[in-house]
Amino acid sequence: TRLKQMVEILNTSKAWSMEGIDVKKVEKLSETSRTTDFEVTGKEFRGEDTIKIGEKLPLFDCYVAPCQVACPIHQDVPEYVQLVGQGRYGEALALIYDKNALPAITGHICDHQCQLHCTRMDYEGAVHIRDMKRIAVENGFDEFKSMWEGATDKTDVKAAVIGAGPAGLSAAYFLARAGFDTAVFEREESAGGVVRHVIPGFRLPVEAIESDVEFIKAHGVQFNFGVETEKMTVEALRNAGYSYIFYAIGSEVDNDIPLVGDRSRVRPSLSFLASFRKDPTTLSLGKHVVVVGGGNTAMDSARAALRIPGVEKVSVIYRRTENEMPADHEEYGLAKKENIDFLFLANPERFDGNVLTVRKMALGEKDASGRRRPVATDETFTIEADTMITAIGEHADTERLTWYGVPVNEKGWPISDEETKESKMENVYVIGDVQSGPSTVVRCIASARSAVEAAIDKILGPEEDEEDGCGCGHDHDEEHECTCEDGCDCDEDDDEEMTDEERVELEADENEFFAEVAEKKRMILSSKNFGDKEFAATEAARCLECSYLCNKCVDVCPNRANVAIDVRNTGIFADPFQILHLDAYCNECGNCETFCPYDGGPYRKKFTLFSLKEDFENSENSGFFAEGEDILIRLDGKIHNCSMDADGILTGDEEGVTDEVAALIEEVYTSYSYLLGYVEA
Ligand code: SF4
Ligand code: SF4
Ligand code: SF4
Repeated sequence: TRLKQMVEILNTSKAWSMEGIDVKKVEKLSETSRTTDFEVTGKEFRGEDTIKIGEKLPLFDCYVAPCQVACPIHQDVPEYVQLVGQGRYGEALALIYDKNALPAITGHICDHQCQLHCTRMDYEGAVHIRDMKRIAVENGFDEFKSMWEGATDKTDVKAAVIGAGPAGLSAAYFLARAGFDTAVFEREESAGGVVRHVIPGFRLPVEAIESDVEFIKAHGVQFNFGVETEKMTVEALRNAGYSYIFYAIGSEVDNDIPLVGDRSRVRPSLSFLASFRKDPTTLSLGKHVVVVGGGNTAMDSARAALRIPGVEKVSVIYRRTENEMPADHEEYGLAKKENIDFLFLANPERFDGNVLTVRKMALGEKDASGRRRPVATDETFTIEADTMITAIGEHADTERLTWYGVPVNEKGWPISDEETKESKMENVYVIGDVQSGPSTVVRCIASARSAVEAAIDKILGPEEDEEDGCGCGHDHDEEHECTCEDGCDCDEDDDEEMTDEERVELEADENEFFAEVAEKKRMILSSKNFGDKEFAATEAARCLECSYLCNKCVDVCPNRANVAIDVRNTGIFADPFQILHLDAYCNECGNCETFCPYDGGPYRKKFTLFSLKEDFENSENSGFFAEGEDILIRLDGKIHNCSMDADGILTGDEEGVTDEVAALIEEVYTSYSYLLGYVEA
């Protein structure tokens, strides 16, 4: 529509004369733009990724960094991206370590939900956040260690962690940091679990694992390797004086595949990958390998199989389609790049000799996971296969859990609290994949952190909410007054008042920052082929620091129907601007909804200014209609008759009208009065 409108304007313009369209040139231009790899402006393929964070759009204070919300451990991405960009690697790493026990490992193999939700995706491509973390680790470790205050003094509370995989290592880190006297028990001779013994070395260098483990050791964690972990029952550990126990034993029992015929050449993925990691030269798979599954383990298995001498072709068979595949895009992309063959909507049924019979599948209704269920058709086909590797998921070792004394449910999973990860046994936690099923390294870190925080809360009591607390340790009422009766003279609003000079200076700094972000939005930048320093500087320049400024709904509205009201002098809001939607200008094109990280759409959910009373009455938006000093307000469906007094203060039926609503309307009257009034249709 916009293009057509522009052409129409150009057509009637007297500034030039159009003699016709050269179709050949247009075709050539189109061809060149599609086929040229533009080093600077090439946009990354984004597939169906969306920056949506799955939360409802609030009426006010909506600025959010989708990268941070999407990250299971809510890393301070906007902040550390800027620090890395400025070459302040040590400071960046300190910030990363605050929430992430395994920055070197996650700098290589995190499934980077942050990047998959990065606002910059709507420009030339997501900020390469994971690489920024890797750069911080690789360049900032020495500086960070020199700033590090050293290990926390141990208390006499003993904690045992069973398993030294990602969840176990993370629990050990957070426990030691909190002062628990922590011991890790691991059956292998080294730490890392799946990341060391299963994930192929071509995806994760062993130095990265070592770096993370060494730092955890430096926290005073005692590691015990080659332990018969089968003996680590709750009773035995309690008898040994451990009052907090964390089972992080992974989910390592491969799901079985229903298959008729010869099963002697069927290998479960985890044991295959472990053998590959140990010594690939001991493996013999024949010429044709089939991998069954669509997750990251399937991608690892396929890429590992291709590296075994003698293997000529590897095919991945998946019973749904590419769209439902759970594997990371990146891993799938790498497998395709290595010429691994993919057969979708296919399910193996029979293995005879070197012939695999495969059933063709179709997609049916959605299942509980939200993905469409694969349904068998009447058709089959055959492919050549010497070995089949199954990567169709794993489950918890029920027998072992029962032996430990951890109650399990009817499906064999440990019974535990979803949030705290505490099992039915007091102070016994199940963390990582044994609790959730196969997941990712960063989810294991999140799981460990929740459990350790829950254990800390048990000892110290829940942490006081910063917003409610002044540090006196008592409750406060709605007016922020301390409710204690023992004469506490605290004052929550004790913050020192800013002087006018300071306020002006702060505002000037903020304005400079807003101008910088506006500039960043105008640029199209690529960091391809740079060294670490330039790469980091470019990525930082691309990051829009979304938690401090958004206003994308203002930028993308073709009709200027969303405006950003500067509310800094109201002292009411968290964000410096609030979005006011202008009903009269909106044609409900939905653009703002597409680009907003929340659900709901700014044109429906933001506080709205109506130009006509009948439009106000016909809408459900919270908002207001102003006629002179008389103001009709709708908030959460309730109408309030108010007016603006001579001092610019909202009066009348304001009961139920929030401070935010009053402040925004007053600000519009005071500084944006040109928005009030009738707009011609
Ligand atoms: S632009 Fe920056 S702050 Fe915004 S989502 Fe991307 S990395 Fe996060
Ligand atoms: S797009 Fe607009 S409504 Fe959505 S978060 Fe950004 S400022 Fe808020
Ligand atoms: S829906 Fe309305 S406010 Fe949103 S972009 Fe379209 S015209 Fe603008």
